[in-house]
Amino acid sequence: MKIYIETLGCQMNRLDSELLVGLVTAAGHEIVSHRRGADAVLYNTCSVRRHAEDKVYSRLGVDAKRKAVRPLLVGVLGCMAQREGKDLARRYPAVDLLCGPGQLHELPALLEKARTGRRAVALDPDRKTPPDARDLEAMESLDLSRDPARTPSRSGAFVRVMRGCDRFCTYCIVPFVRGPEHSRPPEHIEREVKKLLDAGRSEITLLGQTVNRYRHETGGKTTRFADLLARLSLLPGLRRLRFVTSHPVDFGRDLLEAMRDLPNVCPYIHAPAQSGSDAVLKRMNRGYTRGQYDDLLASAREIVPDATLVGDFITGFPGETDADHAASVDLIGQAGYKNAFIFKYSPRPGTPAEKRFEDDVPEALKRRRNMELLAAQKTAGRAHHQQYVGRVLEVLITGKSAREQKKDRRKESPDPQTGLVQLQGRSRGDHIVLMEGPDSLIDTYAQARITAASDLSLFGEIGRE
Ligand code: SF4
Repeated sequence: MKIYIETLGCQMNRLDSELLVGLVTAAGHEIVSHRRGADAVLYNTCSVRRHAEDKVYSRLGVDAKRKAVRPLLVGVLGCMAQREGKDLARRYPAVDLLCGPGQLHELPALLEKARTGRRAVALDPDRKTPPDARDLEAMESLDLSRDPARTPSRSGAFVRVMRGCDRFCTYCIVPFVRGPEHSRPPEHIEREVKKLLDAGRSEITLLGQTVNRYRHETGGKTTRFADLLARLSLLPGLRRLRFVTSHPVDFGRDLLEAMRDLPNVCPYIHAPAQSGSDAVLKRMNRGYTRGQYDDLLASAREIVPDATLVGDFITGFPGETDADHAASVDLIGQAGYKNAFIFKYSPRPGTPAEKRFEDDVPEALKRRRNMELLAAQKTAGRAHHQQYVGRVLEVLITGKSAREQKKDRRKESPDPQTGLVQLQGRSRGDHIVLMEGPDSLIDTYAQARITAASDLSLFGEIGRE
């Protein structure tokens, strides 16, 4: 079958889709880059925000019309399939296949079943029935069967270290759709990283919903997240090791010290605050106060002084007052984040917040507060980036800049005088660095002298390594 996979959502979803490409290709199917001409369309969709799910509902409407004129197999995978369950197939009869995030290894068998005209469904059990050893082994098979040649980038790759979440922030659906927390065996993670390094990848990003809660116990031996970093950092060819997303509560001194002491662990800390107000943090069930979050930032600055900090905020959470909002603006002003991901609250069906709290902040006020947080971060981001002007940073050149990609789409040729294009790369602190150079430098490392800064990126001149 020719299969088109559309991925909507976080890095975990992108990684799942990458692994699925390997899985279905090994089963004899062909992956195509456009839905036109595909025999099967699969949506691998996040449930965290409404936007991704809305897109799929609209696609399913179009697919139903397409199915009326030609055979087409339609599947929904991942968190959305798990959250909606069989209801989705009842409301959208165009759906032939549903597969929860813990069942993705079943996809080839599900495709075979759906192909015979029967609806194919594999959803994860309720989180009260945690996966047993056989289930875990089956889930592991997806990651372990990975073909390193299929990473979307030739320089870097994501590696999952944990599944699920036990934190239960009240606004979040993840603990209900991705199930209980489970840390993968360190030897499996190491084997996967080695495979990727042997295939020429040099930047590895470890993924987990609460990555720094990683903890694996076997034979009386405990591997904490800092131990895992130490173990992986010894692997030859590993130039950069990153991890996302951390929970502030689990950012202990041991982890900060590991970041300081292990030269290939990048000085990058993504620590979502979500709010600067104790009252809101409590209603969100985040498990820390503003004071404890401030202490974390102070320890990070003391132990890893060159670390880049990145934050997340939700604005307009139920009951958020002007004073609560002012506390978030204040936190952004104090923290010195490189950037912050800022979202307006929208209730997600099935979450504790949706059941317990009235969505009582009017949309216009949410929008205004959102703009105010963005403006505060714009100022903070500019000040943060400005301090790098004049410095030389190691940059991994990841591709052409967005401006250059637009030119490519318009079929404009590179500067005829120089043949150079605008390249984009990432510093060790994950700054976006834009610089002119030949596209032969993509997927290589360079030293860039920083000449200018904006609120979101740095501009530099390349010197060869
Ligand atoms: S830590 Fe909170 S926000 Fe993050 S995945 Fe778990 S429940 Fe969701």
